[in-house]
Amino acid sequence: APFPIELSGAVQRGFGRGGKDLGCPTANLPDESLPPISSVARTGVYYGFAQVSARKDGSKLLPDEDAKVMPMVMSLGWNPFYKNERLTAEVHIMHDFKSDFYGHDLKVIVLGYIRPELDYVSREALIQDIQTDIKVALNSLARPAYEKFKSDPLFIRSP
Ligand code: ADP
Ligand code: MG
Repeated sequence: APFPIELSGAVQRGFGRGGKDLGCPTANLPDESLPPISSVARTGVYYGFAQVSARKDGSKLLPDEDAKVMPMVMSLGWNPFYKNERLTAEVHIMHDFKSDFYGHDLKVIVLGYIRPELDYVSREALIQDIQTDIKVALNSLARPAYEKFKSDPLFIRSP
């Protein structure tokens, strides 16, 4: 796929499953933000950088430490584990946020592919793979060649 791929949109509410209860909340991008990636990339797990910014109405501003550009892993797919019916892009940001950020604008630069979607027989297997994905992503993103994407014009200048 032709990386980098840029996506942005207001964070949607999902089913509330598989995220916080797995210790791995995933922020859902809206359907209309997906064409840049759904048209060129296959389903699976990706890595890159993400930034959460203000809501459209300007309400509920984030504290500075939550508004930085941070590493992320993104799952693009039909979510076999949960038998989802639609293509979804779910972003887990490697950062401990002070609070939820539903409705906030989420900007994402997708820089690489980790693995295809797998059909999990157990929660334990899924959790284990997520932990591995996070390690792979952090290792890859540490490469000097990726540094420049942290200050990509897509992102709002970090506080
Ligand atoms: P949902 O089904 O609504 O997506 P989740 O359990 O997956 O529920 O939680 C996702 C929500 O958690 C995000 O929309 C966001 O508001 C919040 N959140 C808190 N910390 C993170 C994080 N590190 N990465 C992604 N989302 C997070
Ligand atoms: Mg989620």
